[in-house]
Amino acid sequence: MSKTTSRFGRSIKPTLQKADRDIVALGIAVAAVILFVGTGGSLMPQIVASWMGRGVAPDLALTNALFLNIALLIFGWRRYKDLRREVQERKSAEARARDLAERDPLSGCLNRRSGPPAIDNLIAESQTAGADVAVLMIDIDNFKQINDLNGHHIGDRVLATIAERIEAQLPQDSVLVRIGGDEFACAFPFQLHARDRVDSTVDAIIRSVSNSITHEDATIDATLSIGIARSGREADGTTPLGAERLLHRADIAMYHAKKRGRNRYFWFEHQMEDELRFRNEIEAGIREGLKNGEFVPFYEQQIDLESGRLVGFEMLARWHSQTYGVVAPNIFIPVAEDIDLIGELSEQLIRKALKDALQWDPAITLSVNISPLQLRDPWFAQKLLHLLVESGFPPARLEIEITESCLHENIGAVRSIISSLKNQGIRVSLDDFGTGYSSLSQLRSLPFDRLKIDRSFVTEISKAEVGSELLLAIISLGRGLSLPVTAEGIENGEVLEKLKGLGEIKGQGYLYGRPENAADTAARLDKLGLLVKVPSGAIEAPVDTISETLRKAG
Ligand code: C2E
Ligand code: MG
Ligand code: MG
Repeated sequence: MSKTTSRFGRSIKPTLQKADRDIVALGIAVAAVILFVGTGGSLMPQIVASWMGRGVAPDLALTNALFLNIALLIFGWRRYKDLRREVQERKSAEARARDLAERDPLSGCLNRRSGPPAIDNLIAESQTAGADVAVLMIDIDNFKQINDLNGHHIGDRVLATIAERIEAQLPQDSVLVRIGGDEFACAFPFQLHARDRVDSTVDAIIRSVSNSITHEDATIDATLSIGIARSGREADGTTPLGAERLLHRADIAMYHAKKRGRNRYFWFEHQMEDELRFRNEIEAGIREGLKNGEFVPFYEQQIDLESGRLVGFEMLARWHSQTYGVVAPNIFIPVAEDIDLIGELSEQLIRKALKDALQWDPAITLSVNISPLQLRDPWFAQKLLHLLVESGFPPARLEIEITESCLHENIGAVRSIISSLKNQGIRVSLDDFGTGYSSLSQLRSLPFDRLKIDRSFVTEISKAEVGSELLLAIISLGRGLSLPVTAEGIENGEVLEKLKGLGEIKGQGYLYGRPENAADTAARLDKLGLLVKVPSGAIEAPVDTISETLRKAG
């Protein structure tokens, strides 16, 4: 197996050098030498003897020919040396140009163009030696954030350091490629029965990159997601795959690792391809659905447990997809987040929900869920306010639900958004409380209006062996922080009865019915005498009210 030509992988074969001129000059020099040996051997002693006055001078023409021969010899030799130097220079210029064309200047790795042929060479060599090749696709998690927070020059240093750390863990005959941006690929041979050696190499790469990178004053913690594909015959005996197909497979497995929470690796499996196809269809469906208004709000009742009164609704998104029917939010919200359409999607839903809720009794509140990504948008509070003003919906009737996972994202930004929402009179509750890692000091420092206890704690209280101690502790924590609580996921009367004895709490759950669409919700409210008929036109707020409210919002 050939040796690597540089620390970051072998080059593809260099093109052949032409040394024709070199050979011609060498030929002239050799001919001149032969001529000199042939004629000079007898003539030279005669010339020297005549110069010393000890003999007859040789024929003048022959003497001149000999001197011409010597001149030719010197000229040929000089020319030969010049040409050799020129060829050397040309060779190294070509090597430099090839390097520039084949290598990524930042990391020194092979680039997207030269990488796959080098992997193909490696596969061919390994096949001859009876080994398989593991092809890894490596992506740095959240690299955009590293760049945004620290600037591009630190981002570049991080890339170069990560390339070095990956390379340090790779076996001798490896190829390392920078595919582009924050993506690297590498390939190395392994014996089929020693697949665990690939696992331990990948483990070592992940571990070594997870050590903090310090540059200038910045300390960066980076993690990797890695997908692995292997060359070699398929189980069905079909021909081994080439570099491009293997890279594609490794990419699919890497994507799978991202979806499973990043900072991990997966070997490619065929069903991952189907998942990806499904995911791409969902992505395209969301884009289309947004254009066609296929996302609609459903409403889940919120009840005051003591009085049993209906006090509000939580809006839950549903997708009326032409292909899949009614789709639940846990399928499409994460995809909308990934493709950066969550803001637009949420805006469409909230606009519809505000319009629906204007028909409800003014005492009934509306809660909407907000994705952590929306809280990164510095204009989020303004956008929401604009929607409120546009619809004429009173901010005091609106409650925003943010999940606990938001709190470790960027606590400063979250605090400032919560404060501006509250300044407008919008209330903010902490959803799914108990599933995240919010600390007591965070809870105390953020001005929440309510805690929503995750349903996993609520359903537990009907189990004899667990009981209600944990739930009680959460409720008294809320009391200590002066935060009212809502219990989610009340599914039966037994849970409800236990909750009723635990103090003043709101509740919601399937016991009161499944989330319903706008029409069914309106019908339910109508029966309860809680529907107001909004005169048409009242929904549109006057323009001067909009500008006045936006002005106050600063
Ligand atoms: P969530 O905000 O905690 O909403 C409660 C979820 O629990 C809803 O699921 C609801 O249908 C379900 N649920 C309510 N009562 C019960 C019960 O008694 N038993 C059981 N097993 N489940 C119950 P859904 O509608 O599938 O929503 C799931 C999650 O999706 C929501 O959790 C929320 O985090 C997210 N979501 C929904 N709509 C939106 C939205 O418009 N924007 C964003 N960013 N997220 C949304
Ligand atoms: Mg919620
Ligand atoms: Mg919840």
